[in-house]
Amino acid sequence: MSYDNNNIFAKILRGEIPCDKVYETDHAFAFRDINPQAPVHTLVIPKGAYVSFADFSEKASAEEVVDFVRAVGHVARLEGVSDDGYRLLANIGKNGVQDVPHLHVHVTGGKHLGCAFPPSAKTD
Ligand code: AMP
Repeated sequence: MSYDNNNIFAKILRGEIPCDKVYETDHAFAFRDINPQAPVHTLVIPKGAYVSFADFSEKASAEEVVDFVRAVGHVARLEGVSDDGYRLLANIGKNGVQDVPHLHVHVTGGKHLGCAFPPSAKTD
């Protein structure tokens, strides 16, 4: 999939639409999710034009990867969820039900989030 410059997170990065900014580095940007699923729900995105984690992990420079990974951890600390724990989620593509085609890691926490893969969710 090629990168769509008009996706909503590209517009946020260009300052064309507002966001609730949390943190910014040379290669990463973080802002609160507009439809939070937990008391803390923050999105961390690379500034580069990467469709997904798959795209980023293949094409990003080592500097971008390091910066991005450190930014995710830093955002969790900034948002106050590091001590009690939190969940990271990156949806990828159709089966991953990714809505916005710009890599984003969801940082969720601030309450007990339940089991992400309960036994009842098993299909076999
Ligand atoms: P995903 O399904 O992993 O692609 O998640 C996309 C996320 O982006 C959802 O949790 C949305 O609530 C969030 N989102 C969509 N538009 C905005 C926006 N303008 N500002 C902040 N979060 C947004």
